[in-house]
Amino acid sequence: MPTCGKCDSVFQYETNRVIQIHSANYGTIKWLLHVLVFSYVSFALVKDKLYQEKENVISSVHTKVKGIAAVTEEVTENGVKRIFDTADYTFPLQANSFFVMTNYLKTEGQVQGLCPEFPTPRTICSSDRSCKKGWMDPQSKGVQTGRCIQYKSTVKTCEVSAWCPIEAVEEAPRPALLESAENFTVLIKNNIDFPGHNYTTRNILPGFNISCTFNKTLNPQCPIFRLGDIFRETGDNFSDVAIKGGIMGIEIYWDCNLDKWFHHCRPKYSFRRLDDKTTNESLYPGYNFRYAKYYKESGIEKRTLIKVFGIRFDILVFGSGGKFDIIQLLVYIGSTLSYFGLATFFIDFLISTFSSQCCRTRVYPCCRCCEEWCGVNEYYHRKKCETVVEPSRRLKYVSFVDEPYIRKVDQQLLGESLQNTKGEVIQRPPVDFTELSRLPPSFQEPPSAPLQPGEMQLLGEEVPRSEGSPSWCQCGKCRPSQLSNKTSRCLEELCCRQRPGACITTSAAFQQLVLSRSSLQFLLLYQEPLLALETEEATSRLRHCAYRCYTGWRFGSREVADFAIVPSCCRWRIRTEFPRSEGHYSGFKSPC
Ligand code: GDP
Ligand code: ZN
Ligand code: ZN
Repeated sequence: MPTCGKCDSVFQYETNRVIQIHSANYGTIKWLLHVLVFSYVSFALVKDKLYQEKENVISSVHTKVKGIAAVTEEVTENGVKRIFDTADYTFPLQANSFFVMTNYLKTEGQVQGLCPEFPTPRTICSSDRSCKKGWMDPQSKGVQTGRCIQYKSTVKTCEVSAWCPIEAVEEAPRPALLESAENFTVLIKNNIDFPGHNYTTRNILPGFNISCTFNKTLNPQCPIFRLGDIFRETGDNFSDVAIKGGIMGIEIYWDCNLDKWFHHCRPKYSFRRLDDKTTNESLYPGYNFRYAKYYKESGIEKRTLIKVFGIRFDILVFGSGGKFDIIQLLVYIGSTLSYFGLATFFIDFLISTFSSQCCRTRVYPCCRCCEEWCGVNEYYHRKKCETVVEPSRRLKYVSFVDEPYIRKVDQQLLGESLQNTKGEVIQRPPVDFTELSRLPPSFQEPPSAPLQPGEMQLLGEEVPRSEGSPSWCQCGKCRPSQLSNKTSRCLEELCCRQRPGACITTSAAFQQLVLSRSSLQFLLLYQEPLLALETEEATSRLRHCAYRCYTGWRFGSREVADFAIVPSCCRWRIRTEFPRSEGHYSGFKSPC
C-alpha cells in the first residue's frame, strides 16, 4: 500500500555523517581537551555545588547593646560625672539597624519667643533694612520679625520668632564625649529560614558562652561584638569616627549546605564601612540628627535640644541554602555538554588554518616537519570539505590552459569578449582520480588529470597565428562567433589560452578525452543502450557529450562544469568532428 508523503517525513530520522580521522596527534589533542573540560566541569560542579537547588535566606534580626559611659565634660548636680547607659545612648531605628550615640551638642532651656539669630554671614545685619518680616529661610531656625537687634556687644543679627535661645552653630566636641562607647558590646540575634527546604536555624545555638566576644580567628561564631573591634576589622579608628558619626555595615553571610551527608549551616560575619569616609568637609560628613526633650517649668513649656552624633549599624543578612536536586544536576550536565565540542572546534581550526597554500609557503621555510604537517592537514581538509559554488545564471567559469586556477566571471560585468574579462580567481575543485579507472580503456591511456602548466611543455611553444583568427585569440585556432545576440557572442569570444601558445586542441589529451568517438559512443550507450548511433540526432548528442567531457575534464565538479564556457577553438574543433548538416549551432544555454 503506498504511504502518504507527509507521514513519510514524520517517520524519518536525520543524523550527521562524520569523518573519522585516524591520527595519533589529533587523537591525543582530542583526549587532552576532553580531560581538561571534564576536570573543569567536575570541579565547578563540586565547588559551587551546582547539583543543588538554591534558595535565598529569609531572616529576622534583633540587637541588644550593652555598656556604660561616663562623660567628664558633664557633671550632675551632685558633682559626679554624668553616666550614660543603654537607654541614653541607643535609639530605636527601623529595619535591621541600631544607633549608638558617640557625641552630642546640647542647647538647654529653649522656650518659644523672640530672639536674635546665631551670627553667621547669612544672619548678621547692620540695620532693619537687612531683615525681612515674615522671611523663612530653610537654613534658619525661625521666622524673621524684620528687626535687626544686638546679639552680642559687637554683633547684630536679625530677630526671629523661634525656640530661644537659638542653637549655636558649633563643631562637634573633640574628642567625642562618649569616646568610651568603643567598649560597648552588641549581641546580634539572627533567625533564618529557608521555607522551600523547610529548614530554620539561628546564629545563637543552645549552650553558647554568653561571656564571649567575637574575634575573627579565635572566636568567629560568637554573636557578641565589641564596637571598637568592628572598626578595627575595617581599618578605621573608632575615636575618629565617634566625633562626627558614621555608618557601619555588619554582614551576616549564610552559605548553607542542607544535604544530610555534608550538612553545614553556620553564619560568617564581616564588616564594611558604609558611609563615605573620604567625603569633603563641606558635604556634611558623618551621621547626626537632632532630638528634643520637652518639659514644663513654672507652667512654661521648655525643651532641651540635642544634636546627636553617632554610629548607625546596619545588619545585612544574605546568603543561600542548597539541597541536592536531580533536575538541577541534569540541567547542569546538559549545559556543559556543549563544552565537549571544544575539541572538535579546536582541531577543525588547526586543520583549516594550517592547510592553506600560505601555510606551505610561510611555515615550510622554517622546518621540514611543518611542511609535512601542512600537507597532512591539506589532505584532511580536502576530505572534510565539499566546495559548492553558487548556481547562478549570471556566473560563468573560464579555464585557461596556461593558468593553474579557474576564473569566475559575472556575466553582467561582461563589457567586451570573455577572453579579456578578468573575473575572480577560484581554486580548481579537487578531483578523485581513482574514479577515472572506471572509464573505458581508451580514456585511461593518456594522463587523465587536468593538465598543469608544468606538463604543458608542448603546448607552451609559440605557434604562428592563423589567418582568420580573431584578435582576442592566443592559440590561432579560434573563430569569430556566429551568434547575433551580443552577450552570447561575447561569451563565445574565449580562447583556450591567456598568453600566445599552442592550442589545447592540438594535444593528445584533447584528442582522447574529448574527441574520441568510441569513448563518446560508449558514454551515450551507457545511458541509452538502444540508441541508434548513425543518425543526425546521435551526432548532436555526441557533440554535446564532447562539450561535457571537455568541461568535466577542465573544471572538475559538476556545479562548475555546468556553467563553464568552452573556448572557441575547442567548440569549433568539436563541431568539426561532430557537425550539424545545416552548419548552424545554438551555442551555450544556461542549465537553470
Ligand atoms: P546545438 O546543438 O545546435 O543546439 O548547438 P551547440 O553545438 O552549440 O550545443 C548546444 C548545447 O551544448 C547546449 O545544451 C549548451 O548548453 C551546450 N553548450 C554549448 N556551449 C557550451 C559551453 O560553452 N559550455 C557548456 N557547459 N555547455 C555548452
Ligand atoms: Zn584561440
Ligand atoms: Zn585554442
